[in-house]
Amino acid sequence: MTLLDGKTGLVCGVANRRSIAWAIAQALAGAGMRLAFTYQGDRLKENVEELAATLPDARLYPCDVTSDEDIGAVFQAADRDLGRLDALVHSIAFARREDLEGEFVATDRDGFRVAHDVSAYSLVALTRAAVPLMERAGGGAVLAMTYYGAEKVAAGYNVMGVAKASLEASVRYLAADLGPRGIRVNALSAGPVNTLAARGIRGFTGMLKHHAEKAPLRRNVELREIGDAGLFLLSPMGSGITGEVLHVDCGYHVMAV
Ligand code: NAP
Repeated sequence: MTLLDGKTGLVCGVANRRSIAWAIAQALAGAGMRLAFTYQGDRLKENVEELAATLPDARLYPCDVTSDEDIGAVFQAADRDLGRLDALVHSIAFARREDLEGEFVATDRDGFRVAHDVSAYSLVALTRAAVPLMERAGGGAVLAMTYYGAEKVAAGYNVMGVAKASLEASVRYLAADLGPRGIRVNALSAGPVNTLAARGIRGFTGMLKHHAEKAPLRRNVELREIGDAGLFLLSPMGSGITGEVLHVDCGYHVMAV
């Protein structure tokens, strides 16, 4: 018997084996949780299929989180296949490349809207859709992924930092709404990790170096460590914690000068 035997989870945001969502999925599956995954469009379907095939009885659903229809279809399928939901992982973000290149002040209405729609509102939409299945499970836990650029200005992070601030505030408001129904909502604020999404950020390699030099642990965080922290918050070990943003960044955020 392992920690999450008999529990089910939906993981949104696996693009490839370097994805933070995949690190969390591996930790959850290792503790016995049965998982389903969403992927955006056919471009990454094969990648996600290959990874999901390494886990017992994993399910796969297409979902562009800007589509309410897609989200509805995912939870209909999850209802049919899983019957309940104990955990939801939101590991999704997007901003237009041009909005991660220039100055934040240049962000136009559409760039601002797209970044917030995909990176912040989608947490609200997915969580709302998960509520009935989590209530059926007798409660549940939601986990989102954020970055320190929500709290302080990180060069090149631009509109994504503002969208992450919205995501973190959404975590707190969702936690307040859903706590009485036994549903916890938290976020991990991860230090920089070299993933597909991260490569879109100007000067990302320099960011990795800077974090490793300044963080108390004098290194960058490993994917496995983010996965383990996700497992903690999504499992009964985190049962007293909601509305929290937990930094998994080798301590970087405590440093001033
Ligand atoms: P990743 O592997 O590229 O994952 C990002 C995921 O978001 C991809 O699967 C991507 O799918 C998906 N996505 C984008 N737009 C979508 C849409 N409209 N509908 C559905 N899915 C969509 O990169 P990652 O670094 O693991 O990112 C996961 C999360 O961690 C993000 O929230 C990110 O901001 C956060 N985070 C990352 C770091 C870091 O340094 N890497 C640090 C802190 C927080 P497509 O590839 O198909 O677009």
